Amino acid sequence: MNKNNNYQNLQENYLFKEIGDRAAAYLASHPGQKILRMGVGDVTRPLPEAIVQAMQQAAGELGHADTFKGYCLEEGYEWLRQAVIDHDYKPRNIDLDIDEVFISEGAGSDLGNLSELFATDNQVAIMDPTYPAYTDANIMAGRPISYLPCHPQNGFVPELPKKKADLIYLCFPNNPTGTVLTKAQLKLWVDYARENHSIIIFDAAYEAYITQPDIPHTIYEIEGAKEVAIEVHSYSKSAGFTSVRCGYTIVPKATGLQAMWLRRQCTKYNGTSYVAQRAALATYTPEGRAGIRANLDFYLGTAQLIKQRLHEAGYEAYGGENAPYIWCRAPHGWDSWTFFDHLLQECQILCTPGAGFGPSGDGFVRISAFSKREDCITALERIKNKL
Ligand SMILES: *Cc1c(COP(=O)(O)O)cnc(C)c1O
Repeated sequence: MNKNNNYQNLQENYLFKEIGDRAAAYLASHPGQKILRMGVGDVTRPLPEAIVQAMQQAAGELGHADTFKGYCLEEGYEWLRQAVIDHDYKPRNIDLDIDEVFISEGAGSDLGNLSELFATDNQVAIMDPTYPAYTDANIMAGRPISYLPCHPQNGFVPELPKKKADLIYLCFPNNPTGTVLTKAQLKLWVDYARENHSIIIFDAAYEAYITQPDIPHTIYEIEGAKEVAIEVHSYSKSAGFTSVRCGYTIVPKATGLQAMWLRRQCTKYNGTSYVAQRAALATYTPEGRAGIRANLDFYLGTAQLIKQRLHEAGYEAYGGENAPYIWCRAPHGWDSWTFFDHLLQECQILCTPGAGFGPSGDGFVRISAFSKREDCITALERIKNKL
């Protein structure tokens, strides 16, 4: 047996462990102190009642002989795939075939698994900083990776690759910077991919947080994108489904990859739970929508509050308008762990060091609007008084 030695090239997944260890060490030497957790990367508001009821009803159906369900299609139930088309694409004048919609158990696994469709000698370009799963999945597969640095000087918008990229990972609205692309900016990428026969994997996990008008909500708003883009969606951050587990991935036939992805899913995946798919369908009802909107508005309100108070305290802070994250520059030219330690020691605040999201993340920290509103208010008072 030979192990997959590519795993040795992964960086130690130490980020959240290191954060936890430093918080524990602080509490051990400062008993009785309360730490304000501002790094939360998970939703915190309860599910809307309409969605809970849909799951209860679905669970009940499984308990009766005449409504019991066994395996569903690997691609998901047609009623959910049709709802995705009718609600998320038709209103934006995008026509999709139902075979191009694949229901998933969430974006995380598809984002990792999609790389299986591509040869190992493909050159991969990944925006930096971003969600770490794209990098890790491609390191595991042994593909060469180059980063597309995003920093204040380029408005956190990646520049087209200098070295030809076959596979490109974009995440907009971006986790962690909160950046969005205009249609013109996104068109540059679609045009690049068409010219270079590349594929874009577009992570739209935060699409529901877009508030700015004229920002594309899907890459298929750009002409020609169906030939070159796979789009990954999740109900996790939009509807609060991080525990329910449901999402969808669009693999257009024009990419030449739809049949391969179907084959892959039928072999290695046996579908998403009926209860989770019923819950996802309920997100499109008027009651489901209203409940979700209220949660999103709450998070966005928290984000606005964080950003405004950071600005008042003299900080350079980005994001928070189209995403639940604020990307804050460390003062005094500090690296992200120095700022992290300072916030922990002086203000008892826990954030996420930017270096955990890629090399260009160093010098920043991510502050999350999923944190408790009252904790945010206390935290920002402390930041203002202490720094
Ligand atoms: C949270 C997150 C995901 C994963 O979502 P799941 O559907 O829960 O697996 C994907 N992409 C980004 C950018 C995220 O922040």
